[in-house]
Amino acid sequence: MSRVEVLDTSALLSWSVDALEGGFVVEGQRAEINRIAPERILSIEAARLNWISPSNNSLKEATELAMVTGDLVGLSKTDLSILALALEKNGRVHTDDYRLQNLCSAAGLEWSSVETTGISQIWSWEVRCPGCGNVEEARKETAPAGENVGNCKNCGAGLRVSRKR
Ligand SMILES: [Zn+2]
Repeated sequence: MSRVEVLDTSALLSWSVDALEGGFVVEGQRAEINRIAPERILSIEAARLNWISPSNNSLKEATELAMVTGDLVGLSKTDLSILALALEKNGRVHTDDYRLQNLCSAAGLEWSSVETTGISQIWSWEVRCPGCGNVEEARKETAPAGENVGNCKNCGAGLRVSRKR
């Protein structure tokens, strides 16, 4: 690999050890692999990957970008670190996560799909109340997709993360 190739967890799980060689990954992915596919950890340790912890500055940059695009809610902490690493190294991100792809596009970073074909346009996400239609500001904390993101300040209904209309 001639440039910095940042690999998300789906790449770590589906690529051969040879293909992983020299790739850049974040420390948080080790725990993710141990949880999702512990049988895979030995192959991953055998590949000469660059395990990086992104700096606080690039994490801050990634968080701010995700707040602007509305991708922060639903983005995992690991994905946020992957974005921070890509920003720090000006790397190309290999991911099937639409939010991460969207963020790379917004940041002017290259990305490639691991398995699926990628999105063709930039998506924006928002936290919307299904009851009264109130749209909340992007949150600071991250939450997995589909998880409860709190209740509407106006009517108390459960808020949903949805694609911006
Ligand atoms: Zn409401």
